[in-house]
Amino acid sequence: MQAIDLLVAPRWIVPIEPAGVVLQNHALVVDKGRILALLPLAEATAQYAPRETLTLASHVVMPGLVNAHTHAAMTLLRGIADDLPLMDWLQNHIWPAEGAHVSRQFCVDGVKLAAAELIRGGVTTANDMYFFPDASAEGFTAAGMRSVVNLITLDFPTAWAADADDYIRKGLDVRDALHGNPLVTTIFGPHAPYTVSDAPLRKIRTLANELGIGIHMHVHETAGEVAMAEGQTGMRPWQRLKELELLGPDFVAVHMTQLTDQEIAEAAELGVHVAHCPESNLKLASGFCPVDKLLKAGVNVCIGTDGAASNNDLDLFGELKTAALLAKAVAGDAQALPAHAALHMATLAGARALMLDEQIGSLVAGKQADFIAVDLGALNTQPVYNVLSHLAYAVNSQQVTDVFVAGKPLLKGSVLTTLSIDEVLAKANEWALKIKP
Ligand SMILES: [Zn+2]
Repeated sequence: MQAIDLLVAPRWIVPIEPAGVVLQNHALVVDKGRILALLPLAEATAQYAPRETLTLASHVVMPGLVNAHTHAAMTLLRGIADDLPLMDWLQNHIWPAEGAHVSRQFCVDGVKLAAAELIRGGVTTANDMYFFPDASAEGFTAAGMRSVVNLITLDFPTAWAADADDYIRKGLDVRDALHGNPLVTTIFGPHAPYTVSDAPLRKIRTLANELGIGIHMHVHETAGEVAMAEGQTGMRPWQRLKELELLGPDFVAVHMTQLTDQEIAEAAELGVHVAHCPESNLKLASGFCPVDKLLKAGVNVCIGTDGAASNNDLDLFGELKTAALLAKAVAGDAQALPAHAALHMATLAGARALMLDEQIGSLVAGKQADFIAVDLGALNTQPVYNVLSHLAYAVNSQQVTDVFVAGKPLLKGSVLTTLSIDEVLAKANEWALKIKP
């Protein structure tokens, strides 16, 4: 008998790879933070001597969810301005509030609030674009979550940096300081075509090639933004980014609600990943990402919540349900984005976009033990004919009972183990009193 750290024996296992598979009478074998095996329960109990066994009679175990686009610290601005179009919302509400209040401490406290909500809802990895990326890394690492921290870049000054060169320099310093942290990787985060000029974008492309890290950017979020760029430059932002040679298999384009058929074909040809944020797009009335067309063209599409100021939660199970429903409505086809494909978008597709698919995103031997358990025993998920259907269309994120990252529990029996809810809520209330006394 081989000694192992943990044997997980749930009612069902959804490994995501192979696609659409639901296993019963199987066990997940975890040792030294990694998945050692996924095999029939009888074989597992004959072969391994676990130090701990987690038996979950009414649960499904699946990979942890990957939130492929968020602004975690903005949870502190949740609900501060609603029911407004993007530019009014940004220029007259969000940017002034950020200008007055964003500091390193704001970011640490905001990220911890976000991390608590993300873990509670089954998210194990977040791709986070915000100021003070060092604070983002600190908050997520304290929570035990995996994060992709953005080296954010804009042309204009904020509390974090003075100009584009300063953002890039500070971002690279953060990257150096994070060297050796197994839970954090970095990605360039030029904010959007309308906030970053050509020179820093060229510099980012050169550095991304040298360092082998990706680029993550808001692209074609609204029709207004595309029209404004056409008026100013005679080019659609996509065309400009293409001419700057920014677009490629290391590029994650967020939103992409305004796309011609030619742009969809180019996204596939260039290997660009799309981070789809359906609830933010719906709330800001930004437009509809043509998810079905992108998938049929062969584009890797993943899912993000965007920030809590435009969503207004970080519930990725809710987001993947919205994505599945919206894809059908936009395509005029009930078969568009079936349940297993929506689950793939929220796990392995996100991992792939963030260059983490060799580590996470599916329950495969050798990968990191990032997984969650969801209790399907609740009223809203009974009876169970089809586990994948329930996970996509019926589950409530609060049915997540256990969350592991690299084999360590972050949520155990629905209780957070790495963060104190009382502390997180006390900080959130302190900030709320400062921001809107
Ligand atoms: Zn965003």
